[in-house]
Amino acid sequence: MDLTKLGWNAHFKKHLAPFVEQDMLPARVAREDRRVYLVYGEMGEFAAEVSGKFAHDAQSIADFPAVGDWVAVRLLPEEGRAIIHAVLPRRSGFSRKAAGPQTQEQIVAANVDTVFLVSGLDGECNLRRIERYLTLAADSGAKPVVVLNKADLCESVSEHVRKVKRIAPDTPIYAVSAKELLGLDALREHLGCGETVAFIGSSGVGKSALINALLGAERQEVRAVRESDRRGRHTTTRRELIPLPDGALLIDSPGMRELQLWTDEESLGRTFDDIEELARQCRFRDCRHRGEPGCAVQAAVKAGELDAGRLRNYLRLNREISHLAGRQDDWTRQLAKQRKKLVARKIRGRNAGRGAWQYSVR
Ligand code: GDP
Ligand code: ZN
Repeated sequence: MDLTKLGWNAHFKKHLAPFVEQDMLPARVAREDRRVYLVYGEMGEFAAEVSGKFAHDAQSIADFPAVGDWVAVRLLPEEGRAIIHAVLPRRSGFSRKAAGPQTQEQIVAANVDTVFLVSGLDGECNLRRIERYLTLAADSGAKPVVVLNKADLCESVSEHVRKVKRIAPDTPIYAVSAKELLGLDALREHLGCGETVAFIGSSGVGKSALINALLGAERQEVRAVRESDRRGRHTTTRRELIPLPDGALLIDSPGMRELQLWTDEESLGRTFDDIEELARQCRFRDCRHRGEPGCAVQAAVKAGELDAGRLRNYLRLNREISHLAGRQDDWTRQLAKQRKKLVARKIRGRNAGRGAWQYSVR
């Protein structure tokens, strides 16, 4: 397999350098199941596990490889296996709360370049939900693209696009129909060779239909994989990193489908920077914008300059985040902070703005 087609680039090459000296090769994680991995590399595909040292040194489950990660491996060709010695620094990552006594962050997909945020144009197009997905995307480091599917069922497509444009002025927005195969060329522009993409959106908005439409001739294959999953058989052959005909790679994993909000105040601020801007003019520094005197945010709502629904969504997300932060153990939070600091120092200037998701290789 050609590494470039798997998404290999200068960033990962640079970080692999110390491992090359130790006879290790790069590989990309195509599947994970209870710490057993399937990796793709130049030599083909291999089942893989992390080394004993790796497992011992890992400080949290977010340190373990995830689908989409680039890893440094040593091959054991005679056994048809590979041993993973390191995860190369991630360029982006989607995560969720992991079950267990401690609320921990678990990476469900790594190194996604572009994430398609899919909504349906049938019924009401939920702007609040799109804001939520934009927050998720901002937190991941992947570039968001808003896809309004089922345009064939909608009489006022351009009006919807305008509304979405207002809450996401810098994000590409496409109205498409997976059923009528309309507007898909615009999506294909984001599917260049080696680009990694993922789809998120509520159930029923047409993600599978879109993926199948983009897969074209290869759709049968994906369907066959899905069906064997459902019967619980052949699960060892299920791939979650799937090459698309245009040269891109699709991450389609159960984790991505069940994604929950795991975000922080910083990314919330980026999505709702208009509200954060207003909040700086509130009389009280700790104003909660729920009717305190001198609240600039409420004043903007009254003046018709800020949508009340948008504020409600912002306050609700804020609440969710503080709830989550409260549940997180101190050590987890400290670790995350240390890691962010470490990395921020490493990448400042070079890759500004994407830093939150880069990890250092131990
Ligand atoms: P998912 O849950 O997001 O993967 O949604 P599916 O791809 O399974 O689609 C849900 C339903 O919407 C199916 O019945 C599809 O046939 C239908 N659907 C998907 N895309 C379109 C579209 O562009 N137009 C119309 N009319 N129906 C669509
Ligand atoms: Zn206020």
